[in-house]
Amino acid sequence: MGIDVAVSFSGTGLDSSVIVSGLSSYVSGSYTSPEGIGFTIDANAHLGIGGIAVQVLPAPSEDARSFAEVGGTNITLYDNADPWTFAHEAQHNFGLDDTYLEGDGIFISTPGLMGTYGDHMINREATRLFETYCGPLDATGSFNYVSFDSTLPG
Ligand SMILES: [Zn+2]
Repeated sequence: MGIDVAVSFSGTGLDSSVIVSGLSSYVSGSYTSPEGIGFTIDANAHLGIGGIAVQVLPAPSEDARSFAEVGGTNITLYDNADPWTFAHEAQHNFGLDDTYLEGDGIFISTPGLMGTYGDHMINREATRLFETYCGPLDATGSFNYVSFDSTLPG
């Protein structure tokens, strides 16, 4: 599965080229579904209009966390964002949820890009991403190519 998404930036304080390269760094790879089917994701982002719109804002506090619309096309990155943050937030745009749990002062971290920040995407996240856009992985393995160049699916 290939992903290519255009990303536009407003605001200052982050190197946009470093940010967009994070999608490939943290998402591209070879994966295995829970049923044992191998597949690959080749994810790339490039600067352009029509895909994801990133607004960069000064971090309101030291521990402020960037955020994104689930299923939407907008991401707010604070200027304290780490290189993996865009890759994480872009997955929210693609429809994935966080896997870590927090509340009442409790934080339970989980592995993967949608769990503890800073981890590479893992098999179950990649399977979810693949099946969201390409349908169920079949027994023979399917290698669909999806290009989101300029437009994200609704
Ligand atoms: Zn998140």
